[in-house]
Amino acid sequence: MAGGLLLVLSAPSGCGKTTILKQVMRDLPGLVFSVSHTTRQPRPGEINGEHYHFVETAVFAAIRNRQPTGFLEWAEVHGNMYGTSVEEVERHQGAGHDVVLDIDVQGMAQVRQRAEPVTIFIAPPSLAELERRLRGRGTESESTIALRLNNARKELACAGAYDYLIVNDRLDRAVEALRSIIIAERCRQRRGPDGQQGGWCG
Ligand code: ADP
Ligand code: 5GP
Repeated sequence: MAGGLLLVLSAPSGCGKTTILKQVMRDLPGLVFSVSHTTRQPRPGEINGEHYHFVETAVFAAIRNRQPTGFLEWAEVHGNMYGTSVEEVERHQGAGHDVVLDIDVQGMAQVRQRAEPVTIFIAPPSLAELERRLRGRGTESESTIALRLNNARKELACAGAYDYLIVNDRLDRAVEALRSIIIAERCRQRRGPDGQQGGWCG
């Protein structure tokens, strides 16, 4: 895949990833959010095609079976299926945009096998604060909160696999950290597993 950067962002649910991303995307031109497909039901206020492509299980399976051109990665998260469309990512990268994938740890590992993403993990200051934020958002039932908190423990254990770690304690600092990472990655000359530098130096 050529073109713009592929930015993979992961965080335990309720950590503040959407809030941070919204502010960074408002400030930095050239970033495009990749809209995932999911079998999850929309939450109040979520718009089909903007937050997710909300699809039936059969539609999701049909795209998943169309490999390698269907999904760049897919995973079951909190009991629902989620996937990133190859076509969508290629279209945005081809237009020269940097593409942001908001995906989980399993998805990040799959993307790494097929592309060269910049991977960023956003962590909460503590599990207690994560629980407060999840409850404060008011979008989950008690059972869903318990499931998401349980998954958060497992996800936090994978934070070390990412290129960058941002702790979302103060929102303004977390926004500044993400902005800075993207700006630095846009200036980076060496990329790829061989660490080779292009260009010439006489
Ligand atoms: P995610 O996208 O990671 O699931 P959200 O962006 O929806 O999380 O944030 C979850 C809740 O936490 C929201 O109510 C949001 O306003 C709040 N929040 C986000 N960042 C902070 C922060 N740094 N301090 C306090 N509350 C925050
Ligand atoms: P939510 O249901 O709260 O929107 O998202 C739940 C989790 O699914 C989050 O961790 C989010 O990053 C992840 N997720 C969203 N879209 C995708 C996707 O396309 N692929 C993968 N692997 N995870 C996704």
